[in-house]
Amino acid sequence: MGNIYSNIYSFNNKMLKKTVNSLKRGNIAGLPTETVYGLAGNAYSKSAVKKIFKLKKRPKKNPLIVHYYDLKFIHGDILVNQYFRRLYRKFCPGPITFILRKKKNSKIGSLVTANLSTVAIRFPKHKIARAVLKSLNFPLAMPSANLSSGLSPVNASDVFDEFKNKLKIIIDGGKSKFGIESTVIDLTGIPRILRPGIISSDKIKKTLKINLSNKKTKIKSPGMLKKHYSPGIPVILNKKPTNQKHAFIFFGKKYKKKENYFCLSKKSNLSEAASNLYKIMRNIKRKGYKKIFVSKIPNRGLGIAINDRLKRSAS
Ligand code: AMP
Ligand code: MG
Repeated sequence: MGNIYSNIYSFNNKMLKKTVNSLKRGNIAGLPTETVYGLAGNAYSKSAVKKIFKLKKRPKKNPLIVHYYDLKFIHGDILVNQYFRRLYRKFCPGPITFILRKKKNSKIGSLVTANLSTVAIRFPKHKIARAVLKSLNFPLAMPSANLSSGLSPVNASDVFDEFKNKLKIIIDGGKSKFGIESTVIDLTGIPRILRPGIISSDKIKKTLKINLSNKKTKIKSPGMLKKHYSPGIPVILNKKPTNQKHAFIFFGKKYKKKENYFCLSKKSNLSEAASNLYKIMRNIKRKGYKKIFVSKIPNRGLGIAINDRLKRSAS
């Protein structure tokens, strides 16, 4: 409260209770996580999950990530394995999503998983998301809080821009620390990265002490649509703009400051660049630029996740 948006609230005990009660009644709330903001609803409730798909205009074939407080809560729903246990110990709670097999009597419905026999699960680290999850006796289905195929939100006001007053509650947790989505790893066979993210494949390899699979199958992650993370204006990669109506995103100190030039990280720091990417793209769109040109970003470490998002936003 105390801001121009009627449905953005700062977090305190009273707000925690209000949010928890609202989720228990089957409503949807905008919540901060350390990656991006999410659109949260009871993962065990078909009607709540339906509301999420409807709000986002998300294709039914794109499954949702289910968020749990910790390991104790997953056993009725999910079949775990050694790879999962090792990665959980090392990285959770944190920005990594695991694809695992669903148990026969799992309370996760088929709408959440787009009829797959697998479920994507994550244990977010953000203290607000954790406080909410800890107070519930169900996990939260929580995709990014944006209309399907758009940019993920990294501030409470971004969530408002996407859904206006269609949400009763958006909790303000400040700017998302990482600003880019979780790493998605399939653990149903030889571990394989489906979506590069904050936690690099090198770190995962080191933890598991095995080589990851790089086999490409298209059905494995049906929701990974080619066009995604789109700011709503054309994105052109590896080129400089030739006029002022077009914005330019670059990395490092290579270019001098101009009105239409936006730097992801002056210090050439890839994690700073990742955390600025969506913020800067939204800002460019708001300012009325007609196109976004992007210079080459180093393809190492977090640069791999940045380039993955840029490639999709340009397609
Ligand atoms: P988001 O919508 O940003 O939360 O991203 C969720 C991603 O997780 C989507 O791209 C989905 O394709 C992927 N995902 C969710 N559930 C599964 C699953 N069971 N198998 C494979 N990928 C999944
Ligand atoms: Mg998303």
